[in-house]
Amino acid sequence: MGSRCPNPRLAKIHRNYSVEDISRLFGVHKNTVRNWLQQGLAVIDDRRPTLILGRELSRFLRERQRKAKQSCGPGRIFCIACRAPKVPAGRMADCTATGPLAGSLCGICPNCDRLIYRRVNLAKIEAVRGDLDITFKWPNPRIRESRGPSVNCHSSEKANADENA
Ligand SMILES: [Zn+2]
Repeated sequence: MGSRCPNPRLAKIHRNYSVEDISRLFGVHKNTVRNWLQQGLAVIDDRRPTLILGRELSRFLRERQRKAKQSCGPGRIFCIACRAPKVPAGRMADCTATGPLAGSLCGICPNCDRLIYRRVNLAKIEAVRGDLDITFKWPNPRIRESRGPSVNCHSSEKANADENA
């Protein structure tokens, strides 16, 4: 429980923690804590046993939590201008196939109105789309029906009009 999102508030800022303490406090493996040390969790000094200041532990975990929130979850597209993942305006996105299994989601950033894009693996689109309303657009224009008026269309409209008259 909680190993993915250790609660930074559990770290008391005026305490020092050993790797074992942290492992026990958050219910994570000691190797997880060693990973954190490699990822930038600072130790007090080079002496053994390794000790980490609670304040630093709290800072590190809060930073980590913030980054986790930033990662693009389902139904979100990263806006480069806002530097954050966004749920596109109207929860709508277009999906254009760019290869046999590759596609690109395109939506509108709700904050800055810019177009935002996300590459997707079409085989995994269900995992990525979240609750977005996706319009699939395939590159071959012949698949899309033409909206232009045709002779047939006119004559059938005329026929309808005649029937209604
Ligand atoms: Zn934006």
